[in-house]
Amino acid sequence: MAHSANLSEVRAVLLDMDGVVYIGDQPLPGVQQLLDYLESTGRDWLFVTNNSSRTPAQFVEKIARMEIRADEPHILSSALATASWLAAQYPDGARAFMIGQDGLRWALEREGITLVEEAQTADVIVCGIDFGVRYERLADATLAVRAGARFVGTNSDTSFPSERGQIPGAGALLALLEAASGVKPTVIGKPNAGMFEQAMRKLGTTAAATLMVGDRYETDIAGAVELGMPTAAVLTGITPEHEFRAAAAPPDLILPGLPELLDAFRQADS
Ligand SMILES: [Mg+2]
Repeated sequence: MAHSANLSEVRAVLLDMDGVVYIGDQPLPGVQQLLDYLESTGRDWLFVTNNSSRTPAQFVEKIARMEIRADEPHILSSALATASWLAAQYPDGARAFMIGQDGLRWALEREGITLVEEAQTADVIVCGIDFGVRYERLADATLAVRAGARFVGTNSDTSFPSERGQIPGAGALLALLEAASGVKPTVIGKPNAGMFEQAMRKLGTTAAATLMVGDRYETDIAGAVELGMPTAAVLTGITPEHEFRAAAAPPDLILPGLPELLDAFRQADS
């Protein structure tokens, strides 16, 4: 039961990154033009990505190479969302064994979480994407979870789009650890409400006035629909058009990409 989104009432826009803003190192068309239009009409925006590999500074640098201007406060990654969630869960501090990259390490350290290399001494095992993951680290994490450490994942995306096609994502590493330990992780990133709620808190907007733009139904669209946010799906990433259309709660808009979203905003505002 799609209510068609009234874009003229949208006050802020959340944009997924992989498959919406870029694929690998290739920028997708229309990003900066859309951001310029949103700003010129008094709307705020935020990049909201399940990719935990980069720090906000590294994201800014990556998109700057694509001539997209954004500063660090305009980026919310699953690493940042997971770290603030953990800080709230463990107000007296926690010891964490991490599988992940710079983005997750930076976020956990910023929240005052102690990173340990001896997995058996950790309160919590935190797993995000790690493109250099080694078997031994997966074994250490498995043994710690089996021994009772809390098991937390940044995001459940089993794959993400690269120039080569869909390659394993953090969800594939979580699936491996779950299979080996018999324990299901607590996952923070989209489609879980926590990530969208952190984004709207940052922007100071309500669900009804915040448009979510994404390329993957199960994460970007399903989670946002659940919270009552208007949604726009773009066809530049993972989910094909027929799957968006067939969904029980389809997105309000299904568009080829961001240039068409800009057109839709212009039309709604005119
Ligand atoms: Mg995506």
